[in-house]
Amino acid sequence: MTDSQISVARTVDRCAVLGPGVRAVIWVQGCPLRCHGCVAAETLPFEGGTSRPVAELADWLAGSADIEGVTLSGGEPFSQAPALAALLDAVRATRPDFSAMAYSGFRHEVLRRGSAGQQALLDRLDLLVDGPYVAARHGALRWRGSANQRLLALSDRYTRVLSEPDTSAGIECALETDGSFSWAGVPPTPGFRTGLEEELAARGFVLHTRGRRQP
Ligand code: SF4
Repeated sequence: MTDSQISVARTVDRCAVLGPGVRAVIWVQGCPLRCHGCVAAETLPFEGGTSRPVAELADWLAGSADIEGVTLSGGEPFSQAPALAALLDAVRATRPDFSAMAYSGFRHEVLRRGSAGQQALLDRLDLLVDGPYVAARHGALRWRGSANQRLLALSDRYTRVLSEPDTSAGIECALETDGSFSWAGVPPTPGFRTGLEEELAARGFVLHTRGRRQP
């Protein structure tokens, strides 16, 4: 994977439960960590995913007028930090006010001591949710799965959200025209995904983990 390509697990073009306002979301493929209870197990192997050009993703985001920014999730966004930093630069070339939020299984302090690409991505973020998911500390928290994870404002853009109620933003579910079912968000209760899959299977449905893809 070069810095002009991003390995993507899935995307959605509008989401209101993974960061402020309405945002696009990119789930990258590949994570070096293995948090017990990870809700995105299909995004963990670095093999797989779809290699997508930074320029193509930038055109999609810049052309989505009804969103205020993008949330980078995964997988581990900081495993593809140089390409994601380049993506944000490309979008902001035409939309300077486009906001960026990211998740990472690593603590902010660790990323600050990381590679030049990781520091470049940090420098372009407005919000960061940091730290691994710890199932024993699961909570119904805003945009986070467990209480050890921090919501950090890395710019002045969203400092207001830090004083807003720290309660779950909920889950968004979508039934696509092709019959597939997808969901996004941070489950407020542990075991959400397993329970959902069992419930759907009992009714004859299969859960698809892909999102709504752009052309
Ligand atoms: S850091 Fe995130 S994606 Fe990686 S294993 Fe932990 S919860 Fe899953």
